Amino acid sequence: MTVTELRDAPGVGTRIDAFDAVDRAAPYGVQLRQIPAAAAAFRADFLTTGKPAEVVTKDLVTLPYPTRFGLWRAALTPSPYLSITNRMLVIRWPGNVLVFEPSDHERGEYTPYFARLNAQTPGFVQDRIVTRHGTVLENLAALGIAPEEVTYLAFDHLHTQDVRRWIGTSTEPGAFPNAKLVVQRDELDAIADLHPLQLPWYQPETYADLRLEAVAAIDGDVLLGPGVALLATPGHTFGNQSLVLSTNDGVWAVSENVIAVEAMVPEHSKIPGVAKSARTWGREFILNTNTPEGLADQYNSLLKEKSIVDQSQRNADFPQFLPSSELTPSPYFPGTKPTFVSGSITHRSV
Ligand SMILES: [Zn+2]
Repeated sequence: MTVTELRDAPGVGTRIDAFDAVDRAAPYGVQLRQIPAAAAAFRADFLTTGKPAEVVTKDLVTLPYPTRFGLWRAALTPSPYLSITNRMLVIRWPGNVLVFEPSDHERGEYTPYFARLNAQTPGFVQDRIVTRHGTVLENLAALGIAPEEVTYLAFDHLHTQDVRRWIGTSTEPGAFPNAKLVVQRDELDAIADLHPLQLPWYQPETYADLRLEAVAAIDGDVLLGPGVALLATPGHTFGNQSLVLSTNDGVWAVSENVIAVEAMVPEHSKIPGVAKSARTWGREFILNTNTPEGLADQYNSLLKEKSIVDQSQRNADFPQFLPSSELTPSPYFPGTKPTFVSGSITHRSV
């Protein structure tokens, strides 16, 4: 099954229409003004759908990432790198287990950008600045979840991902025999014909032989379960999506559109340069910009995320947002210490 054929895989869940009120053909500034009202309508409906039984967050790996991508042109630090922690989330509701962001880091290293970076970085440096916390399968085993129980896998986008080990190919059985990869049809279309600006971040050849029955191709905003939705948030990639959860603490969103919560409220950032840059340029967000293909879309998608979430229970200055790759303090990278860390989402329905 080629990636072009995968785009016809049946979808899943229930379509959400609140954001149809945003005219994607209108100028970016017009779209931006239409988002808050659509977000309010979405919230009103979403809060009536219930809550998942349980949400757990597990760390996968902490690794360096270029400062110029993670904090765009805002941070003043001379450090070329900062540190981010990749996480996975496990969401359960009756009959279902969704694993969000189950990155296969071993195979992710073949992504052209990282292959080049690793070739330039001596092994002893990598050993010092890369921390492996646990693999996807180790984390699930620790939670007492058998691979057969997993019904859905989803990523905010497919940069660096090689999903063959999880959902299998025509010749290789997958670790999750009953799981469907829930992906925006736009993301599959992008991978089928990558633009040069996107090429360093994908492994398109790894999608050439996936099983159609292990893929669910969706369009736009979809309710997967009670208080569990995937919303289209294009920009960082063509088919980017965000996980949105209704929990005991209110509504959360999870994506990689920013690498730090303060990048959604730069006026509250103490990272040197961030607040001033946002003020100087009149910008509400400091984007994660390893790909420049759709920055205005990404900015508007961040307003969509910020408009639907609640404020943090720990500090009302910050939105209840979990960057799926989150800026992490590191003694090796001065001037990059986050002001506020979300860290995890933990929820259990009572
Ligand atoms: Zn990315």
